[in-house]
Amino acid sequence: MFEALKPQPADKIIALIAAYAADPREGKIDLGVGVYRDDSGTTPIMRAVRAAETANLQAETTKTYNRLIGDAAYLAAVKPLAVGDTVDLARVTASQAPGGTGALHCLFELCKLARPGARYWISDPSWPNHEAILRHMGLPIAKYPYYDEATGAVDFDAMMAALDDVQEGDIVILHGCCHNPTGANLDLTQWAALTTHAALRGWVPLIDLAYLGLGDGLEEDAAGYRSMVSRLPESMIGLSFSKNFGLYRDRAGAAIVVAETPEDAGMAEGALAAINRLNYSFAPHHSAAIVATVLGDADLTADWQAELKDMRERVTGLRVALAEALKRETNSDRFNFIAEHRGMFSRLGLTPAEVETLRAEHGIYMVGDSRMNIAGFHPDDIDRFAKAVAKTIRP
Ligand code: PMP
Repeated sequence: MFEALKPQPADKIIALIAAYAADPREGKIDLGVGVYRDDSGTTPIMRAVRAAETANLQAETTKTYNRLIGDAAYLAAVKPLAVGDTVDLARVTASQAPGGTGALHCLFELCKLARPGARYWISDPSWPNHEAILRHMGLPIAKYPYYDEATGAVDFDAMMAALDDVQEGDIVILHGCCHNPTGANLDLTQWAALTTHAALRGWVPLIDLAYLGLGDGLEEDAAGYRSMVSRLPESMIGLSFSKNFGLYRDRAGAAIVVAETPEDAGMAEGALAAINRLNYSFAPHHSAAIVATVLGDADLTADWQAELKDMRERVTGLRVALAEALKRETNSDRFNFIAEHRGMFSRLGLTPAEVETLRAEHGIYMVGDSRMNIAGFHPDDIDRFAKAVAKTIRP
């Protein structure tokens, strides 16, 4: 039967990783895959994560099954982190999930059960896996324009105009902060306008929250989407701890539902547990236990926050240095937006041919749409990078 299978389309980022690894050139720069890197080019295990993992190893007495919905301490810590203190937690339920991808998948399945016929709105562009997963699940996709290449900012008027076609009960996927791939984010006024629109038109937001704390700070990054969640009867959050806890391969995430009433939240919880049972029964415990231990201990939480701040400041510092170097080398303001953006990514705004020239002639690897992982830079790379870009775009 396997001969009937068709080759799967190559994942562009995975292909880029392979091409980078095979490149023998010294000084090559990898801006492709979306992982945080420190100045030495490594993706560190965070101090608090290491300490919690060590403590858990000593304290753990059993590996028996936990609850289908997930570990109680983990979920109790995760709910307030996601929604803050303005929502009655009796209206909030959450399911442990294997990473942010697992959380989104789980929420899409919940929506499919609760709202057959809903359309799923995603930003154009968005993290490519949004469209891929929705397609795989056979769910109808609609897109709203999001990014204005000319200004490097959110094209909010175009976004709102497209959302005029939303039907009651549709699901609108919004990036909670640090939009991937553009780096351009909604401001508080825009979140408020979207909230009013959702309240009037009856659409339900699904917040993809994969970079909390990597923009301007844990509270600052949460302010916009939390204001929305606190004002609407229903919303969902797909949370990932891959980046802000550095738990990538260990897979910690949560599918969070804010329901209109505690009774509805109970129904959602039952459905989430049933979905887990059908998919994999129990989400991986190890990484969730690490998060629970960190968030359950004031000292570990403080240390986690301090290290997250250092990570965030490294990325914002690189952004400023990059924008300055590009301004100097290209003698233009074209790339100033990089310093305004937040999160790990920005799109440089180059053509696919220019991206290819950077790779072929300068050993600089970025995704074909010119998305760069800012954390992939070493400070010493910046001048060479800016010179290479200036040379590449010179008419
Ligand atoms: N959403 C977005 C926007 C992302 O960029 C990512 C990670 N690349 C995820 C969700 C999921 O992350 P993970 O499954 O690794 O936790």
